[in-house]
Amino acid sequence: PRRVVVVGGGLAGHTAAATLRAEGYDGGLTVLGAEPDPPYDRPPLSKELLDGTTDDTTLDTDLLDTDLDVDLRLRCRAVRLRPDAVESTGGVHPYDAVVLATGSSPLRLGGTSRAVHALRTVADARRLRAALRDGASVAVVGAGWIGNEVATRAAALDRKVTVIDAAPTPLARALPAAVGERLVPWYAERGIDLRLSTPVTGVDDRGVALADGGRVDADIVVAGIGARPDTDWLRGSGVPLAPDGAVDADATLRTGPGPVYVAGDIVRWPSRLFGGRLRVEHWDHAAASARTAARNVLGRAEPYDPVPYFWSDQLGHRLQYVGHHDGADRLVLRGRPPGSWTALWFRGGRLRAALAVDDPRDVRDARRLIAARRPLSAERAADPAVRLTDA
Ligand code: FAD
Repeated sequence: PRRVVVVGGGLAGHTAAATLRAEGYDGGLTVLGAEPDPPYDRPPLSKELLDGTTDDTTLDTDLLDTDLDVDLRLRCRAVRLRPDAVESTGGVHPYDAVVLATGSSPLRLGGTSRAVHALRTVADARRLRAALRDGASVAVVGAGWIGNEVATRAAALDRKVTVIDAAPTPLARALPAAVGERLVPWYAERGIDLRLSTPVTGVDDRGVALADGGRVDADIVVAGIGARPDTDWLRGSGVPLAPDGAVDADATLRTGPGPVYVAGDIVRWPSRLFGGRLRVEHWDHAAASARTAARNVLGRAEPYDPVPYFWSDQLGHRLQYVGHHDGADRLVLRGRPPGSWTALWFRGGRLRAALAVDDPRDVRDARRLIAARRPLSAERAADPAVRLTDA
């Protein structure tokens, strides 16, 4: 191609553009980003940025570097994909190939209260940090990855924190109850009030109303209730969208019609390793899928078939997850709290996924075993004295 347009100025968009140049592409390269900030990292927004350990999470400045010759258009939102050009709020950008990397938007709680925070952008994070600095008490709606991380930092700042979730265990959308219930004691250890099986019915300037008629009073409310692919602008373009808004791609991350590739939170791809179609909203995948998509723009036709990986720092622990446990036929818990422990999911005698709590070696071993599809003994793997690679 002579003209590539990357839509989305997040981690995937940044990585796609940087990879195109690293792979020797010397044609026109435009990156459209809706936000005012150059590409930055999101994981610290619910961690170090909230307690002030860091303020700036800008990704390495290659894209701003004139050597890379990238036409980076900030505050520029794509509004329509045509077969030959992207239309944006800043103009019309003709392309021979396009990479879609628009990421996701947080789901919002109903109501218009000023006290409600969502957390996706650096602007969101700074606003939340300012409120926490003012001493606000906090009601976090959703005991998911981001809700738990926000609760952790707010509690460390000595704020009064309540975490509320409709499900009976934490992280219920991501993990089965047998695993999630092991997290429950962590909240009280940090001084956080956890309310499970407690649907929220309304939000106002003084806190949240609960389905059981009760209330949680708080100065601010943080919604950590999930996110949705930012793909509404693609409707009518012919690009296939799944019911949840994801873009369906083939094994090389190409979608259609035309030379359209897709990376990051928005892509759903067929996984040979796990069977079926996968979509994950995590850092490692955003970067890896963007590298593959960029190389395939240049004609490589490389398949994308990773073992997904992510981490979360919450409630005093490091959680690391590899693989994909849908379709597993056996769950084994290795080790027990208060020490480190690992949940292992098997299917047909092979490891499919692992969640390790404070055990980086298990994660590394599990990743290798999943990728190699090597059979292993669940009985031996359950024994923390046996290294996973020897099970
Ligand atoms: P995004 O990072 O969302 O970037 C997409 C960009 O495209 C955005 O800047 C958006 O404004 C822009 N855009 C949207 N629509 C348009 C349009 N029409 N035109 C132009 N631009 C557009 N993952 C982990 O693995 N570990 C963690 O600990 C972790 N912590 C996280 C904490 C927080 C608070 C958040 C929000 C996410 C976290 N993640 C974590 C997830 C990870 O950051 C995301 O998966 C990753 O950012 C996805 O990258 P992306 O480029 O696909 O999308």
